[in-house]
Amino acid sequence: MVGIVIVSHSAKVAEGAAELARAMAPEVRIAAAGGLDAPDRPLGTDIGLIANAIAEAYSDDGVLVLMDLGSAILSTEVAVEQLPEAQRARILLCEAPLIEGAIAAAVQARVGSPLAQVAAEARAGLAPKAAQLGVEAPPPLEKGPGMRAGPEARSIALTVHNPLGLHARPAARFVQTAARFQADVRVANATTGRGPANAKSINAIAMLGVRQGHTITITAAGADAEAVLAALKQLADANFGDDDTQKEGEKRKDKTPSAFLLPHSSLQGLPASPGIALGPARRFVSAQPQVPDHSVADPAHEWETLLAALERTRANIRKTLAEVQRRADRQTAEIFEAHLLFLEDEALLEPARSLIFDEKRNAAFAWQQVTHAMAERIGALEDEYLRARAADVEDVGRQVVAQLLGVSLAPTLSAPGILLARDLAPADTAGLDPALVLGIATARGGPTSHSAILARSLGLPAVVGLGEGVLEIAEGAELILDGEAGVLLVEPEPALAAEYAQKRDLERAAAARARAESAAPAVTRDNCRIEVVANIGSTADARAAIEAGAEGVGLFRTEFLFLDRTTAPGEDEQYAAYRAVAEVMGSTRPIIIRTLDVGGDKPLAYVAMEREENPFLGWRAIRMCLDNPEFFKQQLRAIVRVAAAYPVKVMFPMIATLAEFRAAKDLLAEACAEVQARGLPTPDHIETGIMVEIPAAALRARQFAAEVDFFSLGTNDLTQYTLAAERGNARVAQLADGFQPAVLGLIRQTAEAAQAAGKWAGVCGEMAGDPRAIPLLVGLGVTELSMAAPAIPRAKQIIRGLEVSAARERALQALALETPDEIRAALAGV
Ligand code: PEP
Ligand code: MG
Repeated sequence: MVGIVIVSHSAKVAEGAAELARAMAPEVRIAAAGGLDAPDRPLGTDIGLIANAIAEAYSDDGVLVLMDLGSAILSTEVAVEQLPEAQRARILLCEAPLIEGAIAAAVQARVGSPLAQVAAEARAGLAPKAAQLGVEAPPPLEKGPGMRAGPEARSIALTVHNPLGLHARPAARFVQTAARFQADVRVANATTGRGPANAKSINAIAMLGVRQGHTITITAAGADAEAVLAALKQLADANFGDDDTQKEGEKRKDKTPSAFLLPHSSLQGLPASPGIALGPARRFVSAQPQVPDHSVADPAHEWETLLAALERTRANIRKTLAEVQRRADRQTAEIFEAHLLFLEDEALLEPARSLIFDEKRNAAFAWQQVTHAMAERIGALEDEYLRARAADVEDVGRQVVAQLLGVSLAPTLSAPGILLARDLAPADTAGLDPALVLGIATARGGPTSHSAILARSLGLPAVVGLGEGVLEIAEGAELILDGEAGVLLVEPEPALAAEYAQKRDLERAAAARARAESAAPAVTRDNCRIEVVANIGSTADARAAIEAGAEGVGLFRTEFLFLDRTTAPGEDEQYAAYRAVAEVMGSTRPIIIRTLDVGGDKPLAYVAMEREENPFLGWRAIRMCLDNPEFFKQQLRAIVRVAAAYPVKVMFPMIATLAEFRAAKDLLAEACAEVQARGLPTPDHIETGIMVEIPAAALRARQFAAEVDFFSLGTNDLTQYTLAAERGNARVAQLADGFQPAVLGLIRQTAEAAQAAGKWAGVCGEMAGDPRAIPLLVGLGVTELSMAAPAIPRAKQIIRGLEVSAARERALQALALETPDEIRAALAGV
């Protein structure tokens, strides 16, 4: 049975509290240590008396020590330090209220509960009184590492001005700052009376519910107490690092979703994949691992296992963080920084430790319990924004549990609906079940981000860049998603839903008609043939492409073979993968294989890529390949071997200069010779082209045209580089628009250079499949369009309705306009 010690500055108070507690639980050993052992100075705390009291109440089940204030804590800690190590581990210093805590703890100890539970009960000791008085009890706070708020403690009071209070990001910065110092730091919400809480625990701080205008008191004790308070004050003066340059309205639009939860509200995002979807909201949740509940014989080993899993999770989060940082989105990066803090938060570690050591629970069970409990408590807070952070705790919890159980967290959706997610990694999107996912709505991302591209290839309506508010939509809320307008409607009126349902059905019928005709070539009314081909990344895509009526492959993104693995695929593995695609496409449909395009938003785990300030302007794609010729030639040999038997062409990505193209061609020739030297067949000639996705290549198209066999305009990157607006960044998505006249001018220049040299120019960026862009591209002189398979039938239909001469005229008129919107408006109805 757990013993209890009561430490107070007054012997009478200590004895009185012990007396009350004993009255509730006579069987429990309860010892009092109050005042000084000096008759003339009775008030204070005495290390010797405390040590005696601990010895008196000692039990192998543990001892809970309740203290009043200030030096009581310090004296108790010193007394505990003098105990033999084995005993020390069984003493728990608890911040619960003295009288109420003593009584609640005694009752709990009496029924034989373990130490952690006795402590939890003591911490909740104020709840009955609060209930009786009809006020809200402050939630019990997790115990942090020893609090030494002795006489040397210093305090400051600060007012929080951030519109969202101490929400996740400022709280994370607060914890990071406090953690740089040795001092024990406590923070309390002076406005609501919550706390004090351990300033090095992000969860404990979240529980304080600090909102705009609240005053917090920070108390620090220890050698560098002054320094930590100064640093925290500086942080507060800097608004906890929150960007105040944004207008208030914008901030709330970004982060506070309450308005979105009202019936008939709508969210405006960016169109990412066309189509209309109606259905209930489904939050994207990773698979829940099945957690065993067996107990363990060796808690120390179990604890080590948990620490190792935490370390692995930390490494994974750091990797994600590095990727996010490369994309220069500081605010997003901070979310992952907060995730890292959860992994070392005493508010989670301490109860997990106690479940493992005291209750002999297995690590996965213990970690799941404590993260669930924490998420529940955060989820019960008043503050809407903080409530949403419960999902972050759950998320980190799940990752650690998956590490412990050695399972993967493939995403799942339990029932059909519209998937809501912060963002989707390409792997997440690829793993979605199209039978359950009716549409995709994400808080982040741009229309040419790779997850948006995947949504199009799956034929799923999608809207991206909706802002964090999308994550607050209640599970099951009825939604309408319009992928073409980029709109998400929440709880629409039945009449509006019926209107959209009708529109969706009409679109489906039109799509069915287009599919029925999709096998035939796309010839304009004035008899110009436009080749309509597919963008693919796998054999499954190749099959879908044929079904959709693709006349070949205009872009085979080979990088999907290289991503999400720890070692590079060798030549034979690549050969098998490319050949498998070629077999699906057959001998009459050409395949343009794009050589490896990694870097930027597609890092490789096994090629050392240093962190770069501007990865999209850095060492990526052909640049990396030319610097690693042996690695690159493995791919080129694999391609050449397939090209011996199938109509394969090679395309180099991210070409900026002729010298790069020539160097790549030389390596292709070397690869050919190496294959021949092995006695294997090679093609007599292999057509070689470049992606025009860097403005330099478009501007020098005439010079390139003399040497290449074809151009394929990568309008996703071409737009990003022309406008200096990152393609995955929702904030600059309005700028990163392929309809910008500057981009259209480069497309025209490239197409004209190709024509003049008797070559051809196609488009394989996302514009190629955009129904509104097709007339424009054809008018600018593009003769091949490569797109995600689902877009092919409609694209062919549009082409069949065009007259090239009229399209050219309109395109030239469009080029004279100022803005993408004006251009779209001018083209409407073509
Ligand atoms: C492009 O940049 O337009 C393109 C097709 O390549 P990716 O989207 O793979 O960068
Ligand atoms: Mg590109």
